[in-house]
Amino acid sequence: MLILMNLNSPREDIKEVKNKIISFNCTPHEIPGASKLAIGITGPSEFLIKEEFQLLPSVEEVIRVTKKYKLVSRQMKSEDTIIDVNGIKIGGDQLTIIAGPCSVESRDQIFEIAGRLKEMGVNFLRGGAYKPRSSPYAFQGLKEKGLEYLSDVKKEIGINIVTEVLNQSHIEAVAEVADIIQLGARNMQNYALLEEVGKTQKPILLKRGMSATIEELLLSAEYIVSQQNYNVILCERGIRTFETATRNTLDLNAVPVIKKNSHLPIFVDPSHGIGIWDKVPAMAMAAVAAGSDGLLIEVHTNPEKALSDGYQTLNLASFKALIEKLQELAPVINKKLNLGNYE
Ligand code: PEP
Ligand code: MN
Repeated sequence: MLILMNLNSPREDIKEVKNKIISFNCTPHEIPGASKLAIGITGPSEFLIKEEFQLLPSVEEVIRVTKKYKLVSRQMKSEDTIIDVNGIKIGGDQLTIIAGPCSVESRDQIFEIAGRLKEMGVNFLRGGAYKPRSSPYAFQGLKEKGLEYLSDVKKEIGINIVTEVLNQSHIEAVAEVADIIQLGARNMQNYALLEEVGKTQKPILLKRGMSATIEELLLSAEYIVSQQNYNVILCERGIRTFETATRNTLDLNAVPVIKKNSHLPIFVDPSHGIGIWDKVPAMAMAAVAAGSDGLLIEVHTNPEKALSDGYQTLNLASFKALIEKLQELAPVINKKLNLGNYE
């Protein structure tokens, strides 16, 4: 259920509504919007009596949220969520680029890539320190050393860091370095991990599981938001289908469907989505045309030598060419390519 109140409701009226919610053993979530204050309710809300809320002062409307996911739904908040990461806005009319190698491989590698991306105005560097690999014999990431290099890059080059957390025991160390914590496709339904990252107030980039429906992705986001962390960015990264010509099938349908049903920003990862480097720019452009709020792109100075995902990774020249095309596309769909304003 959702309670809509006047934006200028006195604090005591808001408190009364919240106390009533708590008396039903539910949890209130205050979500200020542009024209109304929404109080979302999670917990055993089937026992709530709608009429008891309608009569309270400053309450304008009581709505039953029909979707399984509540706090992340458009019914709960009609305006787009805009996430502020160190002064850089994500969502709304912004088109944000997160770029970098699949994995942090060495100090020199990550410094060189970060430096070149920064020169191009990229504000967010991606790079995995803990890597979830299909084979236990494949490169698993530099782990703590990788985090240390990312932390040095952040200090010395001045670029925001996006890196993945694989399990609960790493959250603290990853949160220390990451400006955005990535939660990967394989962990999208690790509910204990979702709750734990929800307890941090860090922005979370939540990737869609390779066999997850859009509804399941939104329910996973709900796990994080229900812990009072509203800073969730969704990411479409391709799903498994019968097709074998590409690594995954990039489900761009998800972009307008999610835009309609949720207020959270949605990004697209065309690198994992198609899995073939020379086709990544086409799918990146298509993602932006579909309304994506940002792109996650694998870039390396030397993709042939990359320790993971080299085949789907752009070199600097192809990445630069893509950025130039995005500069032209962004205004056509009323987006601003968000480059070069790291604070
Ligand atoms: C990645 O971003 O390198 C990655 C492992 O992605 P996914 O979780 O989508 O497979
Ligand atoms: Mn990768």
